[in-house]
Amino acid sequence: MFTTDNFNEEDRMRGQRTKLVVELRKKGISSEKVLEAIGKVPRQLFFPKDFEQFVYRDAAFPIGHGQTISQPYTVAFQTELLHIQKGDKILEIGTGSGYQAAVLSAMGANVYSVEVVKSLLVEATKVLKNIDSNIKLFHGDGTLGLSSEAPFDAILVTAGAPDVPETYMQQLKIGGRLVIPVGQNRESQQMLRVTRTSQTEFRTEVFGNFKFVPLLGAKGWKT
Ligand code: SAH
Repeated sequence: MFTTDNFNEEDRMRGQRTKLVVELRKKGISSEKVLEAIGKVPRQLFFPKDFEQFVYRDAAFPIGHGQTISQPYTVAFQTELLHIQKGDKILEIGTGSGYQAAVLSAMGANVYSVEVVKSLLVEATKVLKNIDSNIKLFHGDGTLGLSSEAPFDAILVTAGAPDVPETYMQQLKIGGRLVIPVGQNRESQQMLRVTRTSQTEFRTEVFGNFKFVPLLGAKGWKT
């Protein structure tokens, strides 16, 4: 499991992180498990150097290659919808900085994360190998899911999709949850949670509006 026990960070960073947790609670995040995980993961490790003053602001931030580290509120919102239990097997699509994967790991999940941009994956691998975590990273087109490791207790998509790829639904365990932002254009998405209620049945719930970078690939947006 991800742990900060042997990570010697400045008190200032820890103080800012505590404030962020208070802010997320005010904005409506209520899962104590999620807030505790956000309170543990040192976001500065996943953040571009020289922008320390932005690390604990509740905003997305560019990480290069036209990609972003998600806004903490969005990370918390998606994670809350996943209803994670310790030991759950989770597939994340869009590793990006690796921050969201670290939050899932901090909750005791076994995380499988797929990223299509090789250099981002290389960076995330470097950061994550220095911390004790249950995260396995994969390079490739995540719109195909990860059939070699399926089925999953939950699948989290951290890029905006044009619709719900059938592959994800088929890679869920019964009772499993898929959280995915879906929009008819690349500019805005609605957050969907699709729960597999039986071998052949799925329930879809719709949550608020969000803005993600596009999910590119065979079952996503074409470049
Ligand atoms: N979860 C990330 C935020 C990711 S932003 C974090 O915590 O920092 C979305 C990411 O999805 C980008 O890194 C982008 O390169 C990636 N992505 C887009 N299409 C993809 C695909 N088909 N497969 C895997 N990753 C994809």
